Amino acid sequence: MSFDVAVAFRKSTGRAKSDVANKLVSMFLHEVSRKACVAGGMTVSDPRYAESVVNAFGQQCFYCGKELESDRATVEHLDGMNRFRVGLHVPGNVAMACKRCNNEKRRDDQNPNLYLAENGWESFLSHDGIRCVPSCKTCVYWVSILPDKETRRTSLGVARERVRRFQEPYDRFVHWSANARDSIRQKIEVLYRDCQNFATAEIGKLTAGVALDFASSEAPKSKD
Ligand SMILES: [Zn+2]
Ligand SMILES: [Zn+2]
Repeated sequence: MSFDVAVAFRKSTGRAKSDVANKLVSMFLHEVSRKACVAGGMTVSDPRYAESVVNAFGQQCFYCGKELESDRATVEHLDGMNRFRVGLHVPGNVAMACKRCNNEKRRDDQNPNLYLAENGWESFLSHDGIRCVPSCKTCVYWVSILPDKETRRTSLGVARERVRRFQEPYDRFVHWSANARDSIRQKIEVLYRDCQNFATAEIGKLTAGVALDFASSEAPKSKD
């Protein structure tokens, strides 16, 4: 695969600014999650929750079924904690996945509009290589893991069903999150916009005070 250095450099400027806003969004979602856990009477840190995750999925990635080793395992939010998916750190939305699936799923989590399913996890497990355009990278990923068409379709269906069964005891969190999503998303948009505006204004003000006197600038004196 060819790599365009110029494009990478161009993108890095925009990303530096949105990273700050995205971090605030994540902090906001964690705080909402904390309150929701209190209201719902259970937290993700509760040992009983970890036990139910292991009961449902064993020591395996709940997407691809690979055995999880400590260096390949990562905490996964079924709906990503970002401004598009508005996922929360609450029971029913947190499990363990392999780093590879976690990484591949980002495309669905960061897609403003999902067309295969309503939720990030469900969308990720719906790329069966049939319904998307041939160039779909997530479909290509699943084809690489499950080359046989029929096996792929069945395995992804089984994985989706397993997630649904796992979520059943946490229905109250799943339903509350779904109902609250639009309202939380609106607040996130305000936070995101305000952060960007603040950053632009403040940085503009401060950079105006940076002296750009190239002409009168001398070479720094050496220390010896
Ligand atoms: Zn996986
Ligand atoms: Zn696809």
